[in-house]
Amino acid sequence: MKEEVQLLIDLQELDQHIITGRKRQDKLRAEQKTLTIKSVKIEDMIAQLDSEIALIEQERGEINQSLLKEQDNVEKTEARLPEIKTQKEYLAILKESDVAKKQIKDLQDALAQRDEAMAALQEDCQEKQQELDTLKGTSDSRSDEINQELSDIDASLVDEDTKRAGLADKVPADIRKRYELLLIRRNGVALVEARKGTCMGCNMHLPPQFFNAMLKKQSIDTCPYCNRLLYVMPYTGQ
Ligand SMILES: [Zn+2]
Repeated sequence: MKEEVQLLIDLQELDQHIITGRKRQDKLRAEQKTLTIKSVKIEDMIAQLDSEIALIEQERGEINQSLLKEQDNVEKTEARLPEIKTQKEYLAILKESDVAKKQIKDLQDALAQRDEAMAALQEDCQEKQQELDTLKGTSDSRSDEINQELSDIDASLVDEDTKRAGLADKVPADIRKRYELLLIRRNGVALVEARKGTCMGCNMHLPPQFFNAMLKKQSIDTCPYCNRLLYVMPYTGQ
């Protein structure tokens, strides 16, 4: 086999490996992104619940203040009872105290309602936090695996890129140019074998005369159907 043919075979093999490595990296990065998105989504939900809880806590504080004020009012009103002189005064104080007591009851109801809402929110928040912890437990270890694999591939790619540059430099310029172009246009497969009269790239049967000439020449040719570079393996009885 001509040296140039072997060079191209080696180059194509190496390129296939490089492309597979890059695709694998893309897939791993996408997986990592999905892991992050999932936990960010739960973190957002927790933040939302936290702000709702904070709001209710604030409301509770305000209600409690009003409650203290009303309780104080009742005490002060009722403290005036021993000093009253007339029935009219007495009734007025009772009325005042009743209004305040009614107000207290309403405030206590409002407080109970907030407590209920708060308990529900806290339960929700706890569930989400557990979900997040579980997710993080699995995704952190998966993320470590992904990072390790990514850096392993990076290391191989550095080696392979160097090796590739060395190989590609030895390929004659015109063929190299066609090869590089086909690599892009034909999805990473620029060079294929013509085996038993068939192009292994597009699976078309090559014209017999064309294939016979290839067997004789043992050099690089071009598939008339898919334009890929073709080679034949020598002495295999094809
Ligand atoms: Zn073809």
